[in-house]
Amino acid sequence: MAVPKKKTSKARGRKRRTHKKAVRPSFSACPSCGEPKLSHRVCPHCGTYNGREIVSGEKEKE
Ligand SMILES: [Zn+2]
Repeated sequence: MAVPKKKTSKARGRKRRTHKKAVRPSFSACPSCGEPKLSHRVCPHCGTYNGREIVSGEKEKE
């Protein structure tokens, strides 16, 4: 097994992680009910996607 020769310093590890960021999820208003929803996902409020109802029944899982 390959073993690192030197300990990675705090600065080196932190420098490497400067490219690693948390992504902010992009919300958009649902065209059928107007609630904010994640884009490219079925609306959790009314269960529609692209004008069609995918998940039947509003608030079924409560
Ligand atoms: Zn909706």
